[in-house]
Amino acid sequence: MTPKTVATNPHRMPRQIAPGVFWIGDCLAQRHKGKSYHGYNAAFVVAGETASCLVETGHPKDFPVIEHHIAKLHAQGIPPLKYLFITHQETPHSGGLGRVLKTYPDVILCGDVSDYHLSFPQFEHRMTFMKEGDEIDLGGRSIMAVEPVIRDLRTTWWGFDTKERVLFPGDGFAYSHYHEDGHCGLTAEEAISLDLPDVSSTFADLALFWTKFADMNVYCGRLDELIERLDVRYIGPTHGLPITDVNGTVPKVQQGLKEAALMPESGTNEKVVLTAPAAE
Ligand SMILES: [Zn+2]
Ligand SMILES: [Zn+2]
Repeated sequence: MTPKTVATNPHRMPRQIAPGVFWIGDCLAQRHKGKSYHGYNAAFVVAGETASCLVETGHPKDFPVIEHHIAKLHAQGIPPLKYLFITHQETPHSGGLGRVLKTYPDVILCGDVSDYHLSFPQFEHRMTFMKEGDEIDLGGRSIMAVEPVIRDLRTTWWGFDTKERVLFPGDGFAYSHYHEDGHCGLTAEEAISLDLPDVSSTFADLALFWTKFADMNVYCGRLDELIERLDVRYIGPTHGLPITDVNGTVPKVQQGLKEAALMPESGTNEKVVLTAPAAE
């Protein structure tokens, strides 16, 4: 089934998930096992004292929403958008890149910027490579490139806000939610009826196929190590709901990753069953 845009809870966005860190974007509706699942292709704005950084561009379809949310934040007084950090090159993360660079002429693209100049040669002078530990200074806080434990492209970096200790893990901590249950715009902890291990394993099954061939205990251990080393206090996933209780919620997502690794492949999308009209 063709995914369609659903007008969800516009009043919840932009939503501040930590001081100076705003969740923006919209849901994407899909069908799976006969149910209406919502995913996010979220973006985040991190506001420092002198500059703001957009983390991810959101899905191309969401650019009008993203632009509207950024305008709202600027009207509330955040510093001008000067940086765009993208975790990797897949469309839900980077698909708005050209529009962002055109709309905000001062913005510099940061991250592993391999190949972007092939699509946007006119913006090549506004692209800066980052590697692990490199930081973008926003005044009083910075966005640092950190180890991308769960990833599907070689060029992936995760982002980390050094002030409020917010991790932006791209495809990590990815899971859907239910529109009917009012989960849209809620944090993982607020969506109390959401079965996190179940929706996490579904996402891994559909979108992170490599997890079936890897020992996910090793990856989960690596995640724990990263979270402890950085003293992560919030997580802003691109495809999940923001996590505000790291100790309580992360183990549930990890349980889903481990379960998905043991499930047989179920295919990438719901199959449409066509039935022939009954013979007369
Ligand atoms: Zn993704
Ligand atoms: Zn939703």
